[in-house]
Amino acid sequence: MESIFFSEKEQAYASEVREFMRLEARPHVLAMDRENKYPFELLRKMGQRGYIGVRFPSGYGGGGLNMMHEAIANEETAAQSYALACARSVPHHCAFIIANYGSEEQKKKWLPGIFKADIITAECITEPTGGSDAARMKSVADRKRDCWVIKGEKRFQASGAVADLFIVFAMTNRDVHPTKGMSVFAVEKGTPNIVAMEEFDTLGWRGLRIVSELIFDNTAIPAENLIGEENQGFPILMDMLNSERILVASGLLGTARTCLEMATAYTMEREAFHRPIYKFEGVSFKVAEMATRLEAAGLMRTKAARMLDMGLDVTKIAAMAKGFAAENSYWIANEALQVMGGIGYTTKHDMERHFRDIRGGMVAVGTNEIMRLVVQREHYKEFAQTIQSK
Ligand SMILES: Cc1cc2nc3c(=O)[nH]c(=O)nc-3n(C[C@H](O)[C@H](O)[C@H](O)COP(=O)(O)OP(=O)(O)OC[C@H]3O[C@@H](n4cnc5c(N)ncnc54)[C@H](O)[C@@H]3O)c2cc1C
Repeated sequence: MESIFFSEKEQAYASEVREFMRLEARPHVLAMDRENKYPFELLRKMGQRGYIGVRFPSGYGGGGLNMMHEAIANEETAAQSYALACARSVPHHCAFIIANYGSEEQKKKWLPGIFKADIITAECITEPTGGSDAARMKSVADRKRDCWVIKGEKRFQASGAVADLFIVFAMTNRDVHPTKGMSVFAVEKGTPNIVAMEEFDTLGWRGLRIVSELIFDNTAIPAENLIGEENQGFPILMDMLNSERILVASGLLGTARTCLEMATAYTMEREAFHRPIYKFEGVSFKVAEMATRLEAAGLMRTKAARMLDMGLDVTKIAAMAKGFAAENSYWIANEALQVMGGIGYTTKHDMERHFRDIRGGMVAVGTNEIMRLVVQREHYKEFAQTIQSK
């Protein structure tokens, strides 16, 4: 981590998290990938160290730091495993909604447990009929006296099969534009009429217990479990996604960095035609390109995190950072696997796991196409404002 972009405190924090992960993560990471085992124990240890909810107020059990530190924690976790970084960051996304829009009672009730990993959370946005066009979700919630009744089906929730608390988006007013008729709710495990039927078997992000069918079948929750105001759900979702995208970019950076390190070391050791293979420009130029793309992705992510910490609108830069990191970390992992030859394709090394994990980054939290959709929309908006002001 270079000093011109990071303070001494940030560099020390990165070293601390990296060392913790290097010493603690491996058995849990392998159990996630090979046995589909959710890392409860490691998450609790991370919670005790303040590595979950890094940017949230210490008064609620958070780390009391800022987004840059949260991003560093995700990057260093993902250097061991992107799937683990996802388990670390889902609590952030759910806590973000409660911390920024919830009532004082909601914050006190849920945030400390989330940050200690005593309460596992899942964010419920995507549905079987679509994820990209979130405003058109079909789940509904209707007010009945002192409760809300939710009816709908969600899909793809990371940590969903083991969650204690679901943060659920649903339509509460079908007579207005969908962006003005959505609300967000906290639904606790054990509430009658929640049906979690199946889990997906996925290419990567294994052990995250991603649900394939999560059905709210007239699930009645207390009226006070509405988070924020009624029909405020869409702006809350957009606000949350900006932070989430910066953390996804950070995670992908961490995993891609490990791929680059592995590839570099391997090309120095492995010999062919009487010399180490990095002596061939066909190999070392790939490594140069990997390093260049990683650098560019890192700069974009860091700009996004810094802007967020300054309170600026990050909609465009967060989408740029996420989309750019997704495409380039995949490119890096693919080329890193290539320079390792056949052994890179086996489970003898971690490369194949990282390759599988990184591929998910192009789909989750908005696909590459949706990131371009956001960037072009913001770009044209800014351009029109520039023309008007001339
Ligand atoms: C590993 C993983 C973890 C996930 N975790 C969660 C989670 O925790 N919670 C949650 O709610 N969801 C989660 N998701 C769901 C994820 O956010 C969605 O899969 C994603 O948003 C895409 O939605 P979809 O799968 O319905 O694809 P669709 O929306 O059906 O899109 C299909 C294809 O059409 C393209 N497309 C759609 N619209 C446009 C357009 N306007 N222009 C160009 N192309 C377009 C898309 O880019 C995509 O290639 C997860 C997904 C994965 C794979």
